[in-house]
Amino acid sequence: MSSITIAIGLEVHAQITSLRSKLFCGCPSDYRDRPPNANVCPVCLGLPGSLPVFNRRALEKAVAVALALNCEISDKLSFVRKHYFYPDMPKNYQVSQYDRYGLTPLAVGGSLTVEVDGSRRTVRIRRINIEEDTGRIVYPERSILGSRYALVDYNRAGIALLEIVTEPDLRSPREARVFLEKLGSVLEHLEVTDTSLEGALRADANVSIAGGARVEIKNIGSPKELEKALSYEISRQLSIIKSGGTVERETRHWVKEKGITVASRAKELEGEYRYFPDPDLPPIPVGRDLIERIARSLPELPDSRARRIAKEYEIGDYMASVLVLHKRLCDHFEASSRACGSPKLIASLLVNELLRWVDEAGMDIATGVSRLSTDRLCKLVRYLDSGLISVKLLKEYVRLAVLEDTDPEELVFRGMTAIREAEELERVVEEVFRENPKAVEDALKDPRAVNFLVGQVMKKTGKRADPKLVNEIIRRRLFEHGSR
Ligand SMILES: [Zn+2]
Repeated sequence: MSSITIAIGLEVHAQITSLRSKLFCGCPSDYRDRPPNANVCPVCLGLPGSLPVFNRRALEKAVAVALALNCEISDKLSFVRKHYFYPDMPKNYQVSQYDRYGLTPLAVGGSLTVEVDGSRRTVRIRRINIEEDTGRIVYPERSILGSRYALVDYNRAGIALLEIVTEPDLRSPREARVFLEKLGSVLEHLEVTDTSLEGALRADANVSIAGGARVEIKNIGSPKELEKALSYEISRQLSIIKSGGTVERETRHWVKEKGITVASRAKELEGEYRYFPDPDLPPIPVGRDLIERIARSLPELPDSRARRIAKEYEIGDYMASVLVLHKRLCDHFEASSRACGSPKLIASLLVNELLRWVDEAGMDIATGVSRLSTDRLCKLVRYLDSGLISVKLLKEYVRLAVLEDTDPEELVFRGMTAIREAEELERVVEEVFRENPKAVEDALKDPRAVNFLVGQVMKKTGKRADPKLVNEIIRRRLFEHGSR
């Protein structure tokens, strides 16, 4: 398997959620939780005679992203019409950008480096475009199967999107996930996209194995789903290859609910889109002064932030590299470390515990962070320092805070403390001693026989006890026993 080359490329669509209005009209860009078709006007409904007006703030945001990804920026922004017929697109064309016939994308040729399991990979960025989002098709039965009709909501039609396309440089589903997380973090740091919003960061992935046909997977809504979709698709392709078949070039759809990819409509060929420059939107010059002004005001970005926090809080490069993948998590780490001290402990609780439970519960990081708040983290640091809870209990406290929103104080009140834990263990050890007098005699003569007693206690406690503590209690009891 390691000798087979897997090549993955991504086409990421990020909404510019920080804009107040849509890309070419004054309709509000905040469409979530709005009644269907409430944020619409003649422009974004594509009514005859309406004319688009470009939202210049979108250009500023796009330039910031291009600079952050070290891209070369074009001296003009030229829009094309990409034609295809689909009910979610009221004009029957999408305003986008194109890289042929003398037209150029906004930016080309950048890169973003990711680190996975200690090895770094630089992923080339092929292009960055500005384009408009489509509306949404809503199925009353939640899926296309089983619905007798479909509804269309144009609130999303015309929302500003960045299309960020990579070269096929990624080599595993895990790398693809970390890349999308890091790209999301760059967009968060630049205040371009709030990635916690449903549908704000989406990806299409193309994957080919050992130079075979390229399969495109559409409709992936998050980094975690991306990893799942690619893992599924790669094993699907590998089993075709193993059984002597040939992988066909096609477009597939990720069905999140079932965890599979399915073949979808044949994709239009490039020529069928009938791209042509949009006559309503003449090219907009992108001045050097604009680029320089934005370059000067760029905020701290994930890579330099990782270097700074690794040094400032002495948490090591690995912890820092994971924390900066999520701006919210990293902000939380810095605020909590300043408030409660113990940055190493806090980094480890956030990276090893919080992320694990958030992932397992399919929760967003914002919710996890609000449940394991700075106030709660400070309590945990205090409890551990004072010996009120053990490391094992600490982890349990984090789990309950994240999954059940339980305050650590409440758990102390319920008696879930090291003292109670020790009392409970003393009782179990006493029981084991009573039931195994022969083993106790053996252990008094041969220290290696202690392990049997430890094993018995672990068995009785369902392996939940802290082995170190069990060992201590048994040795102390043996000592008392022997000196009797
Ligand atoms: Zn509108």
